[in-house]
Amino acid sequence: MVRTLLAALFCLGAVSAQTPDHTLGYDNTPFLPGGKWRVHDVSRPRPAVITPGSESSPEKAGKAPSDAIVLFDGTDLSHWVTYVKGQPTEPKWKLQNGYMEVVDGAGSIDTKEKFGDIQMHVEWASPSEVKGKSQDRGNSGILLMGRYEVQVLDSYDNPTYADGQAASLYGQYPPLVNVSRKPGEWQTYDIFFEAPRFEGDKLVKPAFVTVVHNGVLVQNHRQLVGDTPHAKLGTYKPHPAELALQLQNHHEPVRYRSVWVRRLVSQD
Ligand code: MG
Repeated sequence: MVRTLLAALFCLGAVSAQTPDHTLGYDNTPFLPGGKWRVHDVSRPRPAVITPGSESSPEKAGKAPSDAIVLFDGTDLSHWVTYVKGQPTEPKWKLQNGYMEVVDGAGSIDTKEKFGDIQMHVEWASPSEVKGKSQDRGNSGILLMGRYEVQVLDSYDNPTYADGQAASLYGQYPPLVNVSRKPGEWQTYDIFFEAPRFEGDKLVKPAFVTVVHNGVLVQNHRQLVGDTPHAKLGTYKPHPAELALQLQNHHEPVRYRSVWVRRLVSQD
């Protein structure tokens, strides 16, 4: 009896020793296209663990995820500069109550740090006191690499040309829908940007932009035709792989809070 039991246990042990543990992956499955990784590859690096941020509310700015570069959290403008006659100087935008506000005559502001492919989160509000119309009502903008503009505008009951309203890729693509909040209310942009690639003077890959406005997808992987000038067709002019981000001064007191970016680095 004891001998039978021992034999049975031995058999079980032999079976479990022969059954590979696949909880962490495989080393004998077919290769995916590209030939680098197998399906469920045991040696494929697992993504970094990060802590999620929090959603914004009308009263409260959202919080950045743990691996983000926080460019503005409502307390200081230390990540930003204004260029006066080509010289970097401290921005003169108004800083109060957890937000910064465009000051007419004080120029646009640029990040000190330079970026290429990014995810960017921006919260903004157009002035609650409605003044002007069309492009002169709550106009500002997020200029990716200082030249590819995601338009900021009070587009609540404010007709203007479609490719110039809020969340348009200026002069190129209107947003899929107008999901603007009322003047003075906080709004969010989540922008996913793939920088263009140049080899010497030659464009080898155009820029792509995706925009989520107040939680709604409004630009879905749009291919930019070039930069975003006013009333002209944009073109690509060769530039470095990383450049500063700019918040535009279009003379109207638009407010910003909770601005952060994450560099997009693929492990594929
Ligand atoms: Mg603008």
